[in-house]
Amino acid sequence: MNFFSTNDSANRSSFRKSVIESLPDDGGLYFPEIIPSLDLNFLRSLTNKSLHEIAYHVLSLFSEADIPLEKLQSIVQDTFIFDIPLVRVEENIYCLELFHGPTMAFKDVGARFLARTLSYFQETEDKEITILVATSGDTGGAVASGFFNQSGINVVILYPSGKVTPIQERQMTTLGGNINALEVNGDFDDCQTLVKQAFLDKNLNQYLKLSSANSINIARWLPQAIYYYVPFMLRGADEKFVFSVPCGNYGNITSGMLAKKMGLPIHRFIAASNSNDVVPRYFESGIFDPHKTIQTISNAMDVSRPSNFKRLATLYDHNLQNILADTSGYRLGDEGTRRVMKTCYHQNKYLIDPHSSIAYGALCKRLQNGEVGVFLGTAHHSKFMNVMHEVTDPNLELPEKVKRLFEKERRSEKIENSYEELKAYLIDCY
Ligand SMILES: *Cc1c(COP(=O)(O)O)cnc(C)c1O
Repeated sequence: MNFFSTNDSANRSSFRKSVIESLPDDGGLYFPEIIPSLDLNFLRSLTNKSLHEIAYHVLSLFSEADIPLEKLQSIVQDTFIFDIPLVRVEENIYCLELFHGPTMAFKDVGARFLARTLSYFQETEDKEITILVATSGDTGGAVASGFFNQSGINVVILYPSGKVTPIQERQMTTLGGNINALEVNGDFDDCQTLVKQAFLDKNLNQYLKLSSANSINIARWLPQAIYYYVPFMLRGADEKFVFSVPCGNYGNITSGMLAKKMGLPIHRFIAASNSNDVVPRYFESGIFDPHKTIQTISNAMDVSRPSNFKRLATLYDHNLQNILADTSGYRLGDEGTRRVMKTCYHQNKYLIDPHSSIAYGALCKRLQNGEVGVFLGTAHHSKFMNVMHEVTDPNLELPEKVKRLFEKERRSEKIENSYEELKAYLIDCY
């Protein structure tokens, strides 16, 4: 299948080229030329299928000739290596727990699929690939873990100084080898802007074969559609599932919207945001009006200009009414987030991290009769231990897996929020 640029539908690339380049040269995002429809037999038999079978079938519709089917099967098996349970939290509300992977966040799914796909494509490229990625917290760790020791690939991660948690920082700075971390004196949007500048810099691209691992890459975006099938696999297609998704860059929720467009009978979505609420405000006013980024306790959602907004618009033909037919917005500030975490712990004996808390809070307020709410558990609570101690139980202990991170040596390099400095670093390294 070909993918076109959201800025220019005449600008098209193959699956392979879209994955390697990440971004079209006109500053848009790649988007599938055709959204394939799943046939009814497939949809009716979801309860008899495994997640691997679903992933393999759905993703093959996009990768087609660019990845041989046998290879795709092994990539899928090596991507979905952990459980994705649907856990009942209270009457009619479930958490789809996406945090049982190596870095305990949903981003493991996309990062693992991308790393394996890219490593397969690199086998027949002439140069090594440099992955350049900006992170607000969880992407960095997931990418570091997903790409660690993948041959032919170097990784450079940019993260905002002082704005990620100690665990998130450890996950990206302790592996070494082909994984390099840069601590940027700025916020996430600054990091993202630096990365975008590098991609558009023709001179730099003569030295390096750059690729991105942000959620803008289709090889991260497409596999995220797969876990939306889990509730249907487990409970059939007759329930009115409402997916409440904690949103930052809007990669996760737009993956779900893609699944719906392909025919998965999702009843509706809630786009749950923290105080960085540019999209919910857009839903209300029809005006896309980014404010400055606000730092919150759900830091992976501290994004003021979500890069997947272009995909959201393209999915719904640039028509707000179409979007609103499937989706509503929700916002919750830090105080509300803490309150919901606390209530959920005391009433349900269930621990949720600050991101998932917002999505759960949205269901508590907005779920209607006859609907079944599923909120995406995007990170394990232990990644945000300071807040957990404060609002739930001060004696909560870190899992062993996390304790071990703090025994390792931390390595990163500091840079200013300056493209010249980033460019010098990249050219110096390779
Ligand atoms: C990245 C992240 C989000 C936001 O996901 P997007 O795809 O950027 O909208 C939400 N929660 C957690 C824990 C994350 O790491």
